[in-house]
Amino acid sequence: MDTTHDPQRRSFVASANGHADFPIQNLPLGVFSPAGGRPRGGIAIGDSILDVAAIATLLPEAARPAAAAMAAESLNATLALGTAPLRAALSALLAADSARAEEVRPHLHAAAGCTLHLPARIGDYTDFFAGIHHAFNAGKQFRPDSPLLPNYKYVPVAYHGRASSIRPSGTAVRRPKGQRKRPEETAPSFGACRNLDYELELGIWIGGGNAQGDAVPIAAAPGMIAGYCLLNDWSARDIQAWEAQPLGPFLAKNFCTSISPWIVTPEALAPFRIQQPPRPAGDPAPLDYLLDAADQAGGALDLQLEVLLQTPGGGPFRLSLANARHLYWTPAQLVAHHTVGGCNLSPGDLLGSGTISAPTPDGFGALLEITEGGRKPVILPNGEERRFLKDGDTIIFRARATREGCVPIGFGECRGTILPAT
Ligand code: CA
Repeated sequence: MDTTHDPQRRSFVASANGHADFPIQNLPLGVFSPAGGRPRGGIAIGDSILDVAAIATLLPEAARPAAAAMAAESLNATLALGTAPLRAALSALLAADSARAEEVRPHLHAAAGCTLHLPARIGDYTDFFAGIHHAFNAGKQFRPDSPLLPNYKYVPVAYHGRASSIRPSGTAVRRPKGQRKRPEETAPSFGACRNLDYELELGIWIGGGNAQGDAVPIAAAPGMIAGYCLLNDWSARDIQAWEAQPLGPFLAKNFCTSISPWIVTPEALAPFRIQQPPRPAGDPAPLDYLLDAADQAGGALDLQLEVLLQTPGGGPFRLSLANARHLYWTPAQLVAHHTVGGCNLSPGDLLGSGTISAPTPDGFGALLEITEGGRKPVILPNGEERRFLKDGDTIIFRARATREGCVPIGFGECRGTILPAT
């Protein structure tokens, strides 16, 4: 930790001081367009967004290349350069005692008047399955006697997802159509998804890259991670149940994935690092290529994750409260495993953690688990019932990192409203 985490540090941007998500200790990166302006890179500070390329000349030499690269409509080049020097420079520039405050102010835009975009061109997207309680709960519905397959505690299981349909928070989600077959039906029918669900996940942004054929050792894997976001892996459960054997999800997942638009950096999250929780007695140790002492000692995140449902009739109502500490594999283990066979990752690639569920129902990360596959409806405080999502429903994810003696930070929202099928 360094001066950028100092709980005494305040900003001359008054709304940042005490801001739930974006105090000066956070400084996440994103792409925004001000009203009438073109997209460009910015950082969130309180209720404002700073146009970083516009103030690049005010920064020390070490921070200028990454700042100047933020003039682009995507942050891929900035992520490739690394953002730690930029964070240190922006923290000083935005501090309450900054000598350049009057030169910075013209380049602050009210966030409420800006549009947020995807922060990077996503070349590839991979979705893992690292939330062990989710894997157990979902598996139990198909295999009550052996919910986890034999590979689960050895392999960070994943599938290659679809990058083209990833959208920033706030983009409406059209209910997909596809083949559905209820267990009692003998043949499928085609139509709108009947069992639309969300999945609460952490998104992991790749910064560095590796050449094809060069595995990233576990000790070097943290250096490949540019930051984190919230990710909603919208899931059509009825389409999934019919199509997923033998090759895994396809149309059930590829119609839309929503992400929060701000990249929260590893440096901002440094105070909230924790030991990877010890594996239960009897579980195998990770194989050597997935095992690193420093990663085990501080590679997990203490990050509270919340799911809210707003219906046309009321809310938002909390559906669950989980924590990123419930992941069975660390982000570094996901990167090491992804590349161990020689697969190349590139700046702007995105990994999903897999659905994150707490061990108890008040922290389950999908309706599939909360309602036991739709058999047991959840009763909302206004009396409404849900087995799966209805048209007009809005799902909102939030994240918050807190620790005694530190200024809490958040991620901003990941939000999506369900539109009827066409
Ligand atoms: Ca998923």
